Amino acid sequence: MTTLDPQSGVGRLALRDAEAVIREAVEAGTLERAQAEALAASARDPQVFEALLEAAHESKLRGKGKVVTVSKNIFIPLTNMCRNRCNYCTFAKTPDNPAVHNFELAEVGEAVAGGVKTGCIEALFCLGDKPEIAYRFHRDWLAERDYRTTTDWIVEACDVALEGGMLPHTNAGILDQEEMARLRVNNASLGLMLESTSQRLREKGGPHFHAPDKDPARRLRMHEEAGELRIPFTSGLLLGIGETDEERVDTLLAIRDIQATYGHIQEVIVQPFHPKPDTKMHDVQPIDDRDVAMWVAMARLILGPEMNIQAPPNLAPEVLEMLLRSGLNDWGGVSPVTVDFINPEAPWPALRELRDRTEAAGQLLRERLPVYPNYIEAGRDWFDDAVFDALPRFMDAKGFAKNTTGSDVEAA
Ligand code: SF4
Repeated sequence: MTTLDPQSGVGRLALRDAEAVIREAVEAGTLERAQAEALAASARDPQVFEALLEAAHESKLRGKGKVVTVSKNIFIPLTNMCRNRCNYCTFAKTPDNPAVHNFELAEVGEAVAGGVKTGCIEALFCLGDKPEIAYRFHRDWLAERDYRTTTDWIVEACDVALEGGMLPHTNAGILDQEEMARLRVNNASLGLMLESTSQRLREKGGPHFHAPDKDPARRLRMHEEAGELRIPFTSGLLLGIGETDEERVDTLLAIRDIQATYGHIQEVIVQPFHPKPDTKMHDVQPIDDRDVAMWVAMARLILGPEMNIQAPPNLAPEVLEMLLRSGLNDWGGVSPVTVDFINPEAPWPALRELRDRTEAAGQLLRERLPVYPNYIEAGRDWFDDAVFDALPRFMDAKGFAKNTTGSDVEAA
């Protein structure tokens, strides 16, 4: 029996019907649109919520066993200028802001040396989208250093990281296929959060109205082009910027479809948006922690037991135990050195705390590289030779990080 959800008009499932949908999803290893929408409309009922989490955890155990992974990283925000102006962003700065900063290569080298010293493997380059399109200041800065584009500069920065003893992973916003091919030469993987397939969010008054690179079609195309280049790729769903449950389901289904075609989606991040005081969206109601767990579980059921599902532990620190039973198998990048520049108000947990809480939930924490073991096992085809040949320096026989056994991840 169903009742209609007053907001979405989608039929809510009675507990017994919800349990049947959930069971079928676990057995089939996926969940179709109509069932996913009905389940999402029903999952705020506490009993359906518990059944959903239990099933998602079972699916995770089938695909990933007890292992939960983490990547020890340093976060290098190469530039905090960006051509876009998302209404919720506190990261991007305009050239007149004293906090604006571009990393010189020497600074990258220093950050990398600090990362190596503290046992980090991943150099995460996360930066604004092509600021040269918006700002003469940035164009001049690049020209003074003989760079034509930001991508020219990223390629050199990633060389510094790889030569300095770390594995780069870059998220530089929208890149074309030629740019990604250049970055494939020294990156273990690349990333771009799909965020949402909702076109509505780009309308006037919406969070992405002033953000041309947040056009979902453009982001989907970049996912496909990365697949054509055989680049292990990180995607994700952003929660709480005004999207509906149906749009969340649609986003996860779009990622599932791309993965079915190309097989390169190495992980899917389920990331809650935290309102920031100095932004247009400062007074938006933050998403409930239970909803984060619910969407981790929905991602697990839609994307199946083999997908790597990640939730950042610093964005829902009170409910790590709930997340650990909602189907995730990865905590993402956690740094003993640098802050989360996107969410500077949210400190990383110490790795020892993460290990203790993961183990207390009956699971095992293992350190991974910025690329998952199944791509390494699949071989050279997924990497440029220089990257593939560098991997043995960092990994154990199973493709996890070297010098970590079981849950033996050293604390900061
Ligand atoms: S694209 Fe990213 S960095 Fe640029 S304004 Fe939007 S959220 Fe901020």
